[in-house]
Amino acid sequence: MDRTDFQFKWIDDEGRVTSFLVKRGWFDGETLMLADVAIPVSSILRAQEHLGNTLLSVVDAEGSVGDLLVWFRGARGAAVRQAVNVAASAAWADARRREFSAEGHEDGVRTESCPYCLATIPVVGLARSAQVYCPYCDTVVTAGRDPHEEDRHLRPCGRCTLYARPTDCTFFAAYYLVVIYGYWFERVRLCRACMREESWRWLGLNLLGLVGLPFAAWQVGRAYFGERLSSTRFAGLAAANSRARKRELEKAVRGYREIQHRVGPCAGIKVNIAYAILHPRTGFADDSAQREAAAELEDALRDCSNYVRAYEMLCPVYVRLADVERLTKLRTAWGDSDALETDLERMKTRRARARNPYPRLH
Ligand SMILES: [Zn+2]
Ligand SMILES: [Zn+2]
Repeated sequence: MDRTDFQFKWIDDEGRVTSFLVKRGWFDGETLMLADVAIPVSSILRAQEHLGNTLLSVVDAEGSVGDLLVWFRGARGAAVRQAVNVAASAAWADARRREFSAEGHEDGVRTESCPYCLATIPVVGLARSAQVYCPYCDTVVTAGRDPHEEDRHLRPCGRCTLYARPTDCTFFAAYYLVVIYGYWFERVRLCRACMREESWRWLGLNLLGLVGLPFAAWQVGRAYFGERLSSTRFAGLAAANSRARKRELEKAVRGYREIQHRVGPCAGIKVNIAYAILHPRTGFADDSAQREAAAELEDALRDCSNYVRAYEMLCPVYVRLADVERLTKLRTAWGDSDALETDLERMKTRRARARNPYPRLH
């Protein structure tokens, strides 16, 4: 591939620029050069966008993963991220394929191509399904047909984790108390349900100063009516998500089912239904609620066999239900034998605690 040149600055964990001068770098498909730091593409797990900056997850020689935060000058960030992910995903898929063929399992790894970010998605040891999850852009892709443009924007909300259409929001409030004055500012990416809550909070803050009131009122309107204007396939998703968060289980599930009938296979919606059943009662949900949630999550994995969110939610549900057989089958299919041992240990402790809830203190 052609070399992509760019200019960048390092960013610290708090999102502050740490270098005064702009530095130079390039990416040629094999190495990402950031000033005098050379990162081979085989060490990069992925590059993700984080509020306008780029988060690079890099594996070091010992195998531990570290994050680097970078700001790219101009509009280069998206192009660099995509080029890095396309090369890094192909390198990772190749490495896994070599690993499996060395063990004699030629067809252990199949790959899909993400139509949204063009990354290679390796699916290791899992069944074929109607959808595939892309860990590079965090979307769920419906395979075998033209990708829906709207689905490209759907992913878990960074705050509430519900499958939604998160959008960038800027909140601003100014205050002045005779001689004291100042302002608050926040830039976040939220789903509509979170945006509704947040926009009311900021509207309240703006009552102190009135300067930002029109802007805050516009954000409230955007939080309520933005989705209706832009969404068709997933119309009603924000309303169902709001209900799930308010524990209005029946109304939330009704909303999700309507979307599900409209769009067909959709693992993200089924994970939201499981969330509505369990949340915020996780830990208190009775066995029948746990079983209902397990059925939704199993269905989500039938729609999208590599959907890691469904997998990560389903394992603790099996632990609570003490379903050793299904837990073992699931963890084994995902190649997580260490996690299985931890789960079995946790189940043993739960059983012992149930037998003797008040152990004698020594
Ligand atoms: Zn993708
Ligand atoms: Zn949210």
